[in-house]
Amino acid sequence: MTVALDKSVEDFITSPHQLFIDGRWVDAASGRTFTTPDPATGQTLAHVAEADAEDVDRAVRAARRAFEHGPWSRMTASERGRIIWRIGDLILEHADELAQLESLDNGKPLAVARVADVPLAADLFHYMAGWATKIEGNTISLSVPYLPGSAFHAYTLREPVGVVAQIIPWNFPLLMAAWKLGPALATGNVVILKPAEQTPLSALRLAELIAEAGVPDGVVNVLPGYGETAGAALAAHDGVDKVAFTGSTEVGRLIVHAAAGNLKKVTLELGGKSPNVVFDDADPDLAVQGAANAIFFNHGQCCIAGSRLFVHRSRFDEVVEGVAEIARGIRLGPGLDADTQMGPLVSDEQLRRVTGFLESGRQEGARTVTGGERHGDQGYFVQPTVITDVRPDMRLVREEIFGPVVVASPFSDLDEIAAQANDTVYGLGAGIWTRDISKAHALAGRIRAGTIWINCYNVFDAALPFGGYKQSGWGREMGHQALDAYTEVKSVCTQLHT
Ligand code: NAD
Repeated sequence: MTVALDKSVEDFITSPHQLFIDGRWVDAASGRTFTTPDPATGQTLAHVAEADAEDVDRAVRAARRAFEHGPWSRMTASERGRIIWRIGDLILEHADELAQLESLDNGKPLAVARVADVPLAADLFHYMAGWATKIEGNTISLSVPYLPGSAFHAYTLREPVGVVAQIIPWNFPLLMAAWKLGPALATGNVVILKPAEQTPLSALRLAELIAEAGVPDGVVNVLPGYGETAGAALAAHDGVDKVAFTGSTEVGRLIVHAAAGNLKKVTLELGGKSPNVVFDDADPDLAVQGAANAIFFNHGQCCIAGSRLFVHRSRFDEVVEGVAEIARGIRLGPGLDADTQMGPLVSDEQLRRVTGFLESGRQEGARTVTGGERHGDQGYFVQPTVITDVRPDMRLVREEIFGPVVVASPFSDLDEIAAQANDTVYGLGAGIWTRDISKAHALAGRIRAGTIWINCYNVFDAALPFGGYKQSGWGREMGHQALDAYTEVKSVCTQLHT
């Protein structure tokens, strides 16, 4: 049964979708628009103004003005904090509407958007609102050996980096916007946000709520558009002080190159190929459910998806069959259908990419336990898939698939699994399932990854830092660690001539 859209969502979808620059809705300088499709049908959902380099220039000028001349930069931290808190409140007040929009544009089940994406986004703003008044420096006692007998008063300030470009992906459009905007605003920066071209709608609705919350003009600008044009122009722009990016490792490298021009600060949240390790003493139901959730949540379109399942040799067949059984039972359908447990992938490109991996696995001799094909012939659905008989050199094992596809391998002992888990260029996350806390923490210490979940997976919290080792990224999002990436440290040193 398809859920009826709220009138506010229908009105929003059919209204014009422009760029948000300097607190106003404007057409792209080129006049161009692009379409965002409904991934369940491939039909056009909405036309959206398409920003390019000229619009980026306009937004950077507006943001710079807002940063240099206030009122944002002159407000007290408490005033800024209250406004950020209000953004969180407004997200909750419009939770149903935002969840519907997210489900329509991204394809994820409405219930998932309603219980996960939207409340997590609100919580992030609430959490970061509290930090606005807690950005502190230190007092430092100096010894200065070449100035014996002198006295100093020295302290540090933490100041905003300035104009920040934020480029986000399509897998959690609203939540990724929140992860990026929350800490940037709490630390007094101004932002130009570029949502992914596949999913621009919730960021545009969020811009309306941000204005309603009282964020002054020019502080948050939203530029929907393509990566190669708007995104690349933002990453290269001399007027941008920092770029924060979430997306593929390949584009992450392009961002680093583009940012080199004015040496803007860079933080990156990139891909993963996270190991999920089930020991022989794991609780069987928990581990099987956990392994399925680790890969199938959000259709596998998670940078931290548990896409490499490692099971102790003595339990391998049982756990793999348990995950496959869950996969076979997952109901696929449009996100807005109340029975749907897994929606379509986000785009035709992702469908082709994921089915391409499945084909390459077959050619390389891997065994498909369940799934392995496109589902239906309309929309971008892929069957939840479990694959075994893989070798470490296969593309399926080495590359990020970003779909509902898990590869499973057996292991024998802690040393072997530590090596296998780390046999990847990525280091975003890992799962460990065991009743033996010593073993769990011993392995947690040996895996080179930014998040380790023990007897759980996909637990996200605004207070828990998130980010990658190795080629999974630079810096951390969420937690107070996120604030470091949005502040510069200034040392102030006074000699006391008494
Ligand atoms: P992508 O990296 O191309 O896109 C992410 C964002 O970067 C989008 O906003 C896009 O417009 C922008 N972008 C693209 N090219 C750019 C450029 N040259 N300069 C500046 N910005 C640019 O990701 P995708 O093509 O949508 O997906 C491809 C693969 O990336 C996926 O299959 C998956 O493996 C990975 N991915 C990872 C994440 C993640 O959260 N780590 C998210 C999305 C995709």
